[in-house]
Amino acid sequence: MISNPVPWPDGNKVACAITFDIDTDSILHLEHGENAPTMLSTMTWLKYDVVAIPRILEMYKKYEIKQTFFYPAWCMERYPALVEMILEGGHEIAAHGYLHENPNKLSPEDELYWFERQIEVIRKMTGKRPRGWRAPLYNYSKYSTDYLIDQGFIYDASLMGDDVPYILKTDKGQIIELPSHWAMDDWPHYTHAPDMHYMMPIKSPDEAMNVFMSEFEAMYKYGGLWVTVWHPFVSGRLARCERVGVLIEEMQNRGGVWFATMEEIANHVQACIDDGSWSPRIDELPYYDAPIAELKDRALA
Ligand SMILES: [Zn+2]
Repeated sequence: MISNPVPWPDGNKVACAITFDIDTDSILHLEHGENAPTMLSTMTWLKYDVVAIPRILEMYKKYEIKQTFFYPAWCMERYPALVEMILEGGHEIAAHGYLHENPNKLSPEDELYWFERQIEVIRKMTGKRPRGWRAPLYNYSKYSTDYLIDQGFIYDASLMGDDVPYILKTDKGQIIELPSHWAMDDWPHYTHAPDMHYMMPIKSPDEAMNVFMSEFEAMYKYGGLWVTVWHPFVSGRLARCERVGVLIEEMQNRGGVWFATMEEIANHVQACIDDGSWSPRIDELPYYDAPIAELKDRALA
């Protein structure tokens, strides 16, 4: 079913990365500006990150895995103790905007300003430049690929175009895409937040894990890539986090499962490309230079 599965290291059948996006209250300030400081209930829902992140790190320690955290730089500056804990655990910190801004609502110049500012914070606080990026709320712009290439990133984790890694190519060069998709995101399964205009019926942890697990079963069978897009204040809630531990155990007991950071996965993929053991699918960007011509023929909408 997958035409070009990656030869995962040590004969493993699947590569798995539990990635958390640590948005904390950045999204409240971005969305509500001067009203944000008075929105205490939603604020505490988001600031639950300070409770959830140590719990998640403990869980990773128990199962002996190193994982990736996508981190808006403003949140790192605001909560430096959490950054320290993550680094002490040997995990990867990757970029996720400055204040979770939407590049598609910014001019190319403003997108670049915040893009560079996020890198500078990560460099200062972690001692190295980020190697990967996930666009805040998947809002990848038509300029993002070039900015990533210019700034020496090795992978992106925002797009949804395949079951295995693939290449994004522009006139500037190319970068590895490590794709995921909405079913692997915890928001549609769990999030009910009227202040954020997001109201989904809340699933039980078992129901959500069924979805994540069926995605895993298929990726395991065909040699794909399983990447979650979770949030500590969502999936790190007690009952859900408890259930994540069971999920990890089930996956590890299966055998042939490679838990790795996104950087490790990207490095492996690049090594396979370099030694010729695997050829990626290549998507040339932009897909469209302009709105399609047919839209000008006659009203369509
Ligand atoms: Zn986010």
